[in-house]
Amino acid sequence: MTIAIQIAYLIASILFIAGIKLLSKTKDARRGNILSSIGMFIAIVATLVTIDSISLVEIFACILLGGAIGLYYATKVEMTKIPEMVALFNGFGGLASFAVALSDHFLNTEVKMIEMDPVNSISILVSVLIGGVTFTGSMVAWLKLNGKISGSPITFKGQHAFNLVLLIAFLVIAVFAFLNQTDPFYITMLVIIALLVGVLIVIPIGGADMPVVISLLNSYSGMAACATGFILNNKVLIVAGSLVGASGIILTQIMCKAMNRSLTNVLLGGFGQTVTSAAQDGPEIVVKEVGVEEAAMLFDSASSVIVVPGYGMAVAQAQHVIRELMEQCEKRNIDFKFAIHPVAGRMPGHMNVLLAEANISYDKLIEMESINDDFPNTDLVFIVGANDVVNPAARTNPQSPIFGMPILNADKARTVIVSKRSMGKGYAGVENELFGYPNCLMLFGDAKQTITKVVSEIKDMS
Ligand code: NAP
Repeated sequence: MTIAIQIAYLIASILFIAGIKLLSKTKDARRGNILSSIGMFIAIVATLVTIDSISLVEIFACILLGGAIGLYYATKVEMTKIPEMVALFNGFGGLASFAVALSDHFLNTEVKMIEMDPVNSISILVSVLIGGVTFTGSMVAWLKLNGKISGSPITFKGQHAFNLVLLIAFLVIAVFAFLNQTDPFYITMLVIIALLVGVLIVIPIGGADMPVVISLLNSYSGMAACATGFILNNKVLIVAGSLVGASGIILTQIMCKAMNRSLTNVLLGGFGQTVTSAAQDGPEIVVKEVGVEEAAMLFDSASSVIVVPGYGMAVAQAQHVIRELMEQCEKRNIDFKFAIHPVAGRMPGHMNVLLAEANISYDKLIEMESINDDFPNTDLVFIVGANDVVNPAARTNPQSPIFGMPILNADKARTVIVSKRSMGKGYAGVENELFGYPNCLMLFGDAKQTITKVVSEIKDMS
């Protein structure tokens, strides 16, 4: 039996690693997800069958119940709400590790009086700290994302010093907790500090940095799970936790790089808070509007088009009509591709997922670094519901809160058409001077509705 369990754990671990590897390419991501899910199913069953107090019927009843809840939410959730859902997942992951650590601590008090296991004790302390921080931090991120609390940074004087004092207090009390394991006072203090630190490290971070924070909390939830693996002496949990911890930190780094920010800069918070008067009260932007007919003519006469999709495309669900636009352009031998900014939309890979859903082939989606030099030689750039990711202020205005974030060089194209409903700002809450550039034309209206009309105009031209 033990050998069978170890083999099951090995298979599960291999499936996790293969799954994560496949997740690195959009076209293989679904297969990666399925492989990892099978690995998790094997790991859960293999773990639970070793516990005599739970019958197989109970195990499958719980899996069915959990699976049904997961299926319900996964099919119901809107794409734009995925970051909130991930925040909740991370929070519950952290809470689970936190709860396991505490129950192990309190349930095994008698054992601890007889013999001390340093690995177990240190793992409990690590799990309480990281699990607790992940839980409350993720809940604050979730509340910020769904608007239940303000997305603006919440700061107070001496905040970072206070957080540092709390962390030092945690470490000092952890030593006492380690030496006095049967005294509930110390562990209770650690629980309170960990939960408080989670809240305090996320409140100063503004909404625009929330994706980075969620990715980091995802990494924390993995590390907490890894520590819990040591508590339970469960090897597959250690492997799964380390994979989540490592991949979360890699994604965090990729996202920071995409915003040209350091992780410390993100974590110290205040992004979006320092909008200076120069950034806000710049000269009024005077725009030129374009109608659907004229827009259709511009497409018809172009020989190269780059579409820059953004959050507004997701809101409008315009991806299918954009595919129709692409088909019409390709019929006319127009070179048509998409420029994908790493933080366009509201979650990593947001644009890729939506465009793939509309059956737009992956090779048409070009990453920022590969396409940025193509803009100056492009006849027409069509910006669909994107704003921050094409804002030249990121290059030109040191006082702008997005200064330094790499952007798509859409402004360098011969002509730019922007599809959006109004002069509404993007996620970072800043004006976009591109809309007033001489080569830029505004196509106002809901993206899906206006592009539908443009497509029908183009069809009428043939
Ligand atoms: P954005 O800067 O948030 O701008 C989206 C634009 O879409 C808005 O200006 C809005 O203007 C327009 N819009 C909304 N509904 C529309 C509709 N139905 N039809 C047409 N336009 C519509 O988007 P982005 O350029 O994609 O930039 C992403 C931003 O989100 C960045 O600041 C990034 O840091 C942040 N962020 C990214 C992630 C991630 O992981 N990708 C997660 C969270 C936050 P109107 O109101 O005038 O229509």
